[in-house]
Amino acid sequence: IDEAEKFRIEYWELEEAKLRRMPAPRPLATRIALVTGAGSGIGRAIAHRLAAEGACVVVADRDTAGAEAVAGELGGPDTAVAVTVDVTDEEQIRAAFDAALLAFGGVDLVVNNAGISISKPLLETAAADWDRQHAIMARGSFLVSREAARVMTAQGLGGDIVYIASKNAVFAGPNNIAYSAAKADQAHQVRLLAAELGGDGIRVNGVNPDGVVRGSGIFAGGWGAQRAAVYGVAEDKLGEFYAQRTLLKREVLPEHVANAVFALTGGDLTHTTGLHIPVDAGVAAAFLR
Ligand code: NAD
Repeated sequence: IDEAEKFRIEYWELEEAKLRRMPAPRPLATRIALVTGAGSGIGRAIAHRLAAEGACVVVADRDTAGAEAVAGELGGPDTAVAVTVDVTDEEQIRAAFDAALLAFGGVDLVVNNAGISISKPLLETAAADWDRQHAIMARGSFLVSREAARVMTAQGLGGDIVYIASKNAVFAGPNNIAYSAAKADQAHQVRLLAAELGGDGIRVNGVNPDGVVRGSGIFAGGWGAQRAAVYGVAEDKLGEFYAQRTLLKREVLPEHVANAVFALTGGDLTHTTGLHIPVDAGVAAAFLR
């Protein structure tokens, strides 16, 4: 046989060996999840859904009181533990994974959900705004995913990493260059890591929500007031307003985002990686800002 044929044989032997060690997806009841920003809003709903499906959950948030409250809602220390972590801090991230190993013996499902929204028009966006937004969402989720990959590859059981990105990762967000650019960074991390970690059975996917007003600290903390002013509606009517502009005429709630995380990690989407699922009742499809 010639050199090319030899190379082909070696290549396929290698590919077959990879396939043989590729771990099969496992049910959530056997799994250990770490959810960042789980002390509030969408992250809280994701923690609830994963726990309801039987997973052990590490509720990780820089807001200690929020994290502890959610861990308490999920049951005792056999089900959930709270960990204080600021995702801009490498040491704290490592410590959060160590806490997960100590509490439950591993981590094989990580959700990058922690986020803030600094939403200003271009000319009002300071360099410090850009840096802060990217430190938490772009750099923070990179650091969390890197630690997740380190732990998951050592375990050899595969796993899932899910990014809660945004419709604004793909479409131009309204007057929020720093936020939308950081979300676009997250979206590309999904594709890059799906490619790099696929051979270890680690799937990396994203969920792109939009208009989750109820329960969201981001909306309550100024973004809601700003949007209400832009659209000329009362802030307490913003949820209904968002619902009316969707194709489905339905309000998107935190649990709808959690449903997508479940579909990707514990549902039937076992052969999906590198994908972003919109959870926006059709806003992105209709190209609505
Ligand atoms: P939220 O404020 O209720 O939740 C965000 C959580 O992240 C909070 O508990 C906060 O303490 C935590 N957090 C912030 N900075 C952190 C840090 N440095 N380290 C650790 N934790 C930190 O808001 P939410 O609406 O539930 O948002 C959750 C995620 O969903 C965010 O990434 C957000 O960008 C994304 N998202 C939300 C919407 C929406 O409509 N609400 C739409 C698209 C994307």
